[in-house]
Amino acid sequence: MDRPLKQRLVVVGNGMAGMRTVEELLELDAGMYDITVFGAEPRVNYNRILLSPVLAGEKQAEDIVLHPRAWYEQHGIALHAGDPVVSLDRRRRVVRAHSGLEVGYERLLLATGSSPFIVPVPGSQLAGVIGFRDLDDVDTMLAASRRGGHAVVIGGGLLGLEAANGLLRRGMDVTVVHLTHSLMNQQLDAQAALLLKAALERRGLRILLGAQTDSIAGRGKVEAVRFADGLELPADLVVMAAGVRPNIALARDAGLYCERAIVVDDTLQTYDPRVYAVGECVQHRKATFGLVAPIWEQARVCAAHLAGRGHRRYVQQATATRLKVTGIDLYSAGDIVGLDGSEDLVLRDRHAGVYKRLVLAGNRVTGAVLYGDVADGPWYFDLIQQGRDISGIRDRLLFGPAMCEAA
Ligand SMILES: Cc1cc2nc3c(=O)[nH]c(=O)nc-3n(C[C@H](O)[C@H](O)[C@H](O)COP(=O)(O)OP(=O)(O)OC[C@H]3O[C@@H](n4cnc5c(N)ncnc54)[C@H](O)[C@@H]3O)c2cc1C
Repeated sequence: MDRPLKQRLVVVGNGMAGMRTVEELLELDAGMYDITVFGAEPRVNYNRILLSPVLAGEKQAEDIVLHPRAWYEQHGIALHAGDPVVSLDRRRRVVRAHSGLEVGYERLLLATGSSPFIVPVPGSQLAGVIGFRDLDDVDTMLAASRRGGHAVVIGGGLLGLEAANGLLRRGMDVTVVHLTHSLMNQQLDAQAALLLKAALERRGLRILLGAQTDSIAGRGKVEAVRFADGLELPADLVVMAAGVRPNIALARDAGLYCERAIVVDDTLQTYDPRVYAVGECVQHRKATFGLVAPIWEQARVCAAHLAGRGHRRYVQQATATRLKVTGIDLYSAGDIVGLDGSEDLVLRDRHAGVYKRLVLAGNRVTGAVLYGDVADGPWYFDLIQQGRDISGIRDRLLFGPAMCEAA
């Protein structure tokens, strides 16, 4: 019997989540859909995670391409790069792009990611104030670094520190300013954050903690950053790395139910059964996402449902993070704050620059912070994910798998 006519799948967002979902879908059923992809960026899909090594000069932009044009062509995917979708008519099942192009769909996948949060202080709209999200931002930073001068990075989280490290490596004089009193406070405890701060300062970064940005000054372009305590720093470039906001305007304007992001169920379906969403633009059971590991799992589940094989369900898991600053080893996984009644196992060797802290709830590991020696990070992460009973190896747990297996 002839196969019925192909259905049309439109993907909005040519980024990591969208294209991973398409990859998974093609593996399950390459002939089911005619696929059209719209991307706001004027390029093919690349590995956003590796923007930091590109900025630091450890990789070139062409090294981080995930899907070259030939991949789209090979799979018959119509790619409209540099043509963002501006509206969505769910009644007619049509998307409309900035160019005026309209494409109809039987299924729609929203994968619009998120945008840097630009702290709305006076002067934040000046030229030279940017986020760190895409290759254009990296180009802007590279151009600024060629001119030299001062960079101020607002935000001492993962992204801010990677931006600061890159700009420092490119020869700028860099200050990181962070609102709280501890760097990477979402991933590190105070001890690990102190070690990290000292290591970054040894490399030449200036770090201001507890600093509240008051305004950005400049005539036509940024010249200085002013803080609530009256301090003023000269700045030729300001990088805002103070969090992101999911890109939900398109979905919200089309009447799709959104809270902080586009609300999806365990199958990644939105409140409209024809519309799915994956990646940083979604909210699943109150959570939003900022790392790729959970997004890969969303892509797997979503693709299974797009392919009509409704046998998978998305379940949130613990996540792990590393800082991509060459020469600094840190690893953080799971819940590092610890719920009531949790305990800590701590190993500290100041001389060797090693710090390890495991958070235990009963006989299970629920979190890990490692600094200086991170080789066992993935093993601890497995223990967290498996919820394994560690009572038999508790006394050796901090010394890693070799010692525990010997036991
Ligand atoms: C510098 C940097 C370093 C990172 N490092 C790590 C790391 O070490 N580990 C980790 O796990 N994660 C890291 N991340 C996060 C990771 O890159 C993201 O979680 C991931 O890219 C999210 O995928 P996404 O598809 O949801 O969003 P994106 O990859 O941002 O893709 C969304 C795409 O949709 C496009 N778009 C938006 N609106 C429209 C529209 N209306 N029409 C068409 N296109 C649209 C956007 O332009 C974008 O290209 C890093 C991110 C950055 C920026």
